[in-house]
Amino acid sequence: MQIVDTETFIPKANFELQQAWHLGCTGRSDEALTLAGQILADAKSRGDDRLAAQCDTDIAWYCFQTGAAELGLTHVRRAVDFWKSKREPIQEAYARAYFGWLLLELGLPEEAIEEATRALDLADKTADPKAQSLATNVIGIIFWYNKQPDRAILMSERSVELARSIGNKTYECWWLVNLGGAHSEGGYIAQALGQPEEAHRMLTRALDLTEQALDLAIETGDSWAARICLGNQADYYGHLGEHEKALQCMLRYQQFQKNSYVRDRQQYLYTLGQVYNNYGKFEEARSLLLEAVELIAEGGSFDSYIQIYLYLSRAHEGLGQFDLALEAHKKYHQFYLQNSAERTQQRARLAEIYYETRRLKEVAETESKRADTLEASYQKLQEQTDILASAVYLDALTGLYNRKYLDSRFKELTSEKRPYSIAMLDVDHFKSVNDNFSHMIGDQVLGAIGTILRNQLRATDQAIRFGGEEFVVVLTGTPKAAADVCERLRLAVERWDWSAICNGLRITISIGVAGGLSAASPKEILEVADQNLYTAKKAGRNRVVS
Ligand code: GH3
Ligand code: MG
Ligand code: MG
Repeated sequence: MQIVDTETFIPKANFELQQAWHLGCTGRSDEALTLAGQILADAKSRGDDRLAAQCDTDIAWYCFQTGAAELGLTHVRRAVDFWKSKREPIQEAYARAYFGWLLLELGLPEEAIEEATRALDLADKTADPKAQSLATNVIGIIFWYNKQPDRAILMSERSVELARSIGNKTYECWWLVNLGGAHSEGGYIAQALGQPEEAHRMLTRALDLTEQALDLAIETGDSWAARICLGNQADYYGHLGEHEKALQCMLRYQQFQKNSYVRDRQQYLYTLGQVYNNYGKFEEARSLLLEAVELIAEGGSFDSYIQIYLYLSRAHEGLGQFDLALEAHKKYHQFYLQNSAERTQQRARLAEIYYETRRLKEVAETESKRADTLEASYQKLQEQTDILASAVYLDALTGLYNRKYLDSRFKELTSEKRPYSIAMLDVDHFKSVNDNFSHMIGDQVLGAIGTILRNQLRATDQAIRFGGEEFVVVLTGTPKAAADVCERLRLAVERWDWSAICNGLRITISIGVAGGLSAASPKEILEVADQNLYTAKKAGRNRVVS
């Protein structure tokens, strides 16, 4: 009797899980999440671990779609462990790809890369084009978030091609959205570099790709993707100064809001509000943003509140209502700080869980004497992912190298025979940038400094974000030559068009340089550079001391 029950139940559960997937592909991810959650509970109570793992994998994606990344992580980690223990590489590849995507969403890019490359490795080994398409797309997004549009475009193009090769229109649509996003990033970087023609070309391409995605979203009935397409297009048009077209996108957006939730309605209101702000129609902007403020009582996230109050303060400012603008700006600032604190705690907690699980797994694997095979496959993976490995050394905000890279570079430099120099850079009066303009502007300044350093430095020199608003540059050659390069950097920062970020903004940096002749270690040279930086600060800032 029982066996018959189980047999009829399993296909039914699988069918329901497919139904959930269909909901997730047609803009009803909230319902998909509920349904998959029910199937998961049933599967668990019957001890059907396989079905439970399938649910956990899919739930991770619905969590991403509905903005509940942290919850998704709990599910997908269980799925990864299960598929791995059952040696089902294709399923493991899917789960790891979603895992990587969620980690990126939660601000853990290094861990995201690790999962995404493992996903791609598994997908490649099994030659499963659908899993390859998903994993490649996630890697593309990681590059995009790391401000490396060229690599992001390469990866995203491949993921779109793979989706096309298997006729999967849902994947094709989603990955096209990201391919558009990668192009827009290239456009924004060109804009910041003062290359308007290149910026225009990239943004136009972004619009075109997103239009292709939108056509597919309409064809498949995916209102979630359609909303993202139109919101992105409004943003791209805004950057091109085509405000009327941006407005038209937002009008179309409304047609896809049927099954949407509070968070989405807020997003719609503040995006449209910002379109009106950019257009100089502050009255319209204000009324939409006040409507969004009303909706805060019904839920949403700090991310949304930050945008709502920031744009509201701009609308008030545009209308000359400075008291109200200041009030809104204070609210924005308060939410921004709350959000940063929450994110930092969340990241610390996640990293802890993540490393602890990995450490335990390593212990278990050594015990079962699988270390040799593990190492062999790990080495192979490392060979395959040369490019990606370098991204582990990148800082997400500035696109420069991070502290981890500096540690390994210092190890190399210990045995360096040729002369080299080390410079220490610090932004002048950065605290007052945060205080007078907001932390968000502060972050944009750091991003622009990353761009300036990347563009000014020679291929033989490396710039590292040392921490906060401090940077280290490792340069080949004597301190005299290095001081010349640093002077160029100082000037480039001083002359940068900071008003493009915010009216009235001005930024300078101070630099201390020291050279590596004698037997001094890189660490000692860095200390001298730091002392020189201190001297530069005391002498009045905006200067190089060598
Ligand atoms: P000085 O010219 O003496 O360097 O003055 P300063 O204001 O720059 O002083 P200091 O270097 O001590 O201040 C660094 C400030 O940078 C403090 C901190 O709030 C801010 N900061 C550090 N990291 C970040 C970041 O990632 N984003 C933003 N927005 N601010 C940061
Ligand atoms: Mg400092
Ligand atoms: Mg400073």
